[in-house]
Amino acid sequence: MAETRRVAIVTGAARGIGAATARRLAADGRAVAVVDLKEGDAQATVDRIAADGGTAIAVGADVSDSDQVAAAVAQVAERLGPPQILVNNAGVIRDNMLFKMSEDDWDTVMNVHLRGSFLMSRAAQEHMTSAGWGRIVSLSSTSALGNRGQANYSTAKAGLQGFTKTLAIELGKFGVTANAVAPGFIETDMTRATAERVGMDFEEFKAAAAAQIPVRRAGRPEDIAATVSFLTGEEAGFVSGQVIYVAGGPRD
Ligand code: NAP
Repeated sequence: MAETRRVAIVTGAARGIGAATARRLAADGRAVAVVDLKEGDAQATVDRIAADGGTAIAVGADVSDSDQVAAAVAQVAERLGPPQILVNNAGVIRDNMLFKMSEDDWDTVMNVHLRGSFLMSRAAQEHMTSAGWGRIVSLSSTSALGNRGQANYSTAKAGLQGFTKTLAIELGKFGVTANAVAPGFIETDMTRATAERVGMDFEEFKAAAAAQIPVRRAGRPEDIAATVSFLTGEEAGFVSGQVIYVAGGPRD
């Protein structure tokens, strides 16, 4: 049965995990704002949702820019209605060993993941708390536990876990939950770029990753979308402040 028509924002939803999540939430009956850097890129996801019979709009915004975030959230509220679901998914990698990592590599990753999630959540919570219902899900990563070549990214992803727990504490009394999903290896352009960086064929890279994963396969964007669907669902109101590792096996 379709869930209540609530408005959802998914950032970085032009491709990868964000696109799969936007499609899944639309299939759940949500009206979805597909946010990405370029509105034109977001439109491809919107077209797929429309072809499946769902409702979506494309919105161009850089989540690390406060003016663009304010304008994007206002535009969503005006065109679709007040957003009550936010998925902080937009992300970038700038991998390098610490001794080679530039300040720009560090700042870019912090700005998109941490500042972006902060700005989007701050702008969207107003609509959620007024409605007395809301769901915020932020994309962390197994890299939060430490990963060679990712001092910037692992710091940001660990930071999002603290951010999530604090939002859960502050916003719970307004009917708003906050959770994090921490994917392991998921087949997307991001992991394809990592394979290129280490000079490996993507299929070999995937097979090597799968051999280390208890369920013996790489993750798919739909694996993450299904978890976000649960966490943003009507029945998940008592699940808050959690970090769910979706990695084909256990993590500490
Ligand atoms: P992806 O394929 O690289 O997609 C990321 C999307 O975010 C792109 O469409 C990108 O736009 C957009 N984006 C980047 N910076 C942005 C900004 N400042 N404002 C708005 N949008 C922005 O990545 P993915 O693999 O689907 O990953 C999605 C999320 O899951 C990320 O937070 C990532 O860290 C996390 N994650 C991924 C994996 C994995 O194995 N793939 C594992 C753990 C966690 P452009 O194309 O224009 O740059």
